Amino acid sequence: MAVDFAAELNQEQLAAVQAPDGPVLIIAAAGTGKTRTLVYRVAWLVEQGVRGENILLLTFTNKAAKEIMERARDRVGETALHGMWGGTFHHVANRILRYHAELIGYRKDFGILDSDDQKSLYKTVYDELGLKGDDRFPKPPVLISLFSLAANKAVPAEDLIADRFQNVHMDVERILKVHHTYTARKQALNVMDFDDLLLNAVRVLAEHAGPREYYQHKFRYVMVDEYQDTNPVQAELVRLLSGGSGNLLVVGDDFQSIYGWRGADYRNILHFPEENPGASMYKLVTNYRSVPGILQVANRCIAGNPEQFQKEIRAVREGGPTPVAAKLSDGSHQARYIINAIRTLRRAGYKYGDITILYRAHFHAMEMQLELNREQIPHVITSGVRFFEQAHIKDVLCLSRLALNPRDELAFIRLLCLLPGIGAKGAQNLWKKLNQRFDPLLSEERKRLADAIPKRGKEPWQPIHDALEAADRELLRGNPGELIHLYLNAFYDEYAVETYDNYPQRLEDIQGLMDYTASFPSLEAFLSELALQTNLDESIRREDEPQDAVRLGTIHQAKGLEYPVVFVLWCVDGMFPSGRALDEDDSGGESEERRLFYVAATRAKDHLTFGIPQVRRQRDGGLVYYTPSRFISELPDGTLREERGGYY
Ligand code: ATP
Ligand code: MG
Repeated sequence: MAVDFAAELNQEQLAAVQAPDGPVLIIAAAGTGKTRTLVYRVAWLVEQGVRGENILLLTFTNKAAKEIMERARDRVGETALHGMWGGTFHHVANRILRYHAELIGYRKDFGILDSDDQKSLYKTVYDELGLKGDDRFPKPPVLISLFSLAANKAVPAEDLIADRFQNVHMDVERILKVHHTYTARKQALNVMDFDDLLLNAVRVLAEHAGPREYYQHKFRYVMVDEYQDTNPVQAELVRLLSGGSGNLLVVGDDFQSIYGWRGADYRNILHFPEENPGASMYKLVTNYRSVPGILQVANRCIAGNPEQFQKEIRAVREGGPTPVAAKLSDGSHQARYIINAIRTLRRAGYKYGDITILYRAHFHAMEMQLELNREQIPHVITSGVRFFEQAHIKDVLCLSRLALNPRDELAFIRLLCLLPGIGAKGAQNLWKKLNQRFDPLLSEERKRLADAIPKRGKEPWQPIHDALEAADRELLRGNPGELIHLYLNAFYDEYAVETYDNYPQRLEDIQGLMDYTASFPSLEAFLSELALQTNLDESIRREDEPQDAVRLGTIHQAKGLEYPVVFVLWCVDGMFPSGRALDEDDSGGESEERRLFYVAATRAKDHLTFGIPQVRRQRDGGLVYYTPSRFISELPDGTLREERGGYY
């Protein structure tokens, strides 16, 4: 089966696909066919007689690797790719370690720790080192993320420690001691965490000539997609694996580097030519994806970011709609506006599956999710669990649920189980002792609980108890956010710090939730709305994942994907760019936010709409006013068509 490369690729792509042996850099802006070029490169290699087992393809998701391999297989036939390796860095590292873990003191059947396991193991280490009750010592999640970042950036942890705790005195020796104990324990238990997979695979290859030579011989062709988002450890792994033939081909777009906060370093791609002397370089400048109006937004917003390969981008498509800036009053208005737009687009022939709604942070999509449920529009949420089903959201709603319905056993059990020292069994017993009811708003019921609670739970419960005693009952009933606020201050905030490594995001979610309650007149109105939504959810879900559905997800997850219709939520300063990311030293600051905006815009083929709500209500009834995102207000007049939410 011969592939007609010249007919299916443009000149630039064809040249890249047929690049001679040696290092190759394909650098191009969004939608110019980088990923497509990889498909044909694989097919082309096979046509040159290269065997599948000699090819390694590294991608950002396993799904991407599968797709590329399938599309190549469609072109060269079923058997030709036999033995080819493709997947994420973690996937490939794991595979290597399954053969060679013994070289670094592990058994081959090692287990992999997920983040919960990792936290438990850290806690045991804290116990053992007598750090448990020490309030001034950083909690496990803080150290876990610190050491993970150090690992991924390949910098000494000491440097990050000094950075992070600039203003507090920290016992660096003790912090390192925790890490050493944790590392030794993992080895003893024959388990690795996620970062270990990469680090250990690098160790195997760097320290042992046997496997290194084996893989360098085996993988005569190594290819990497989305190279701009590799971190130094991944780059090292690539270097070790491709060191034999030197036939390393990397594809990427420095404009789309959006994982700096996790240790990715776009300089890997910027410096590729210097680090790989003799590299041939290909630029793709023809965009097949988007109408010109969308590309204009993309080009304008990214221009001026320092330190990047300058790339012009040429539209193949002509005409098409101008992207829209939708000026709306608030989050609910934004949701209703988008639903109207979706209906209009459906009438124009688009399917639900053609449409995606993107956001900078999970909580931005709260009103959107509720409204899609209410309107029974089939949708799939790709950013993990639905907003209201996330553990931390459910946790902070327990007290409120009990205040509304003191017989809500599930809420009671969940609430009590969050206290250290109380398990499901203990909570169950307690529930019986209280005659199966607990109303946190009634003083006598609170007293009964306080008396009945087992010794270990008493102390952590006390602040919640005291806060409830001091609070104004009518206020709690009338303002659904108050009880969440009270619980957060008395207990949950500290609990979340200790429990979650992504505490800042979770806190942001909870704050978003509290603000959202402001639109409800009472606890009852708020909780019945949620309950109703959850039930609706169930009925939609029964048919399993709808085939034809609107996709909701974070921009980070949309990388590399394309949709005919894209909506971006909350394009206002402080939300996008995220105020938190602008403040944090670790993230890439404004430049990375700008690249994220670029990624969002370039997902769209035909229709691109930025939602720009003007206000967000807060828990206490106050209003926060927002101005349009700087990425939007900087665009020249006429780049966007302004809408005020009436018609689409
Ligand atoms: P991103 O930067 O978002 O990862 P990309 O550069 O990897 O994008 P692709 O996803 O490979 O781009 O291609 C974008 C779209 O353009 C796809 O729909 C692809 O099929 C189409 N396309 C690319 N090259 C051609 C071509 N030569 N002829 C027709 N369509 C093409
Ligand atoms: Mg791509």
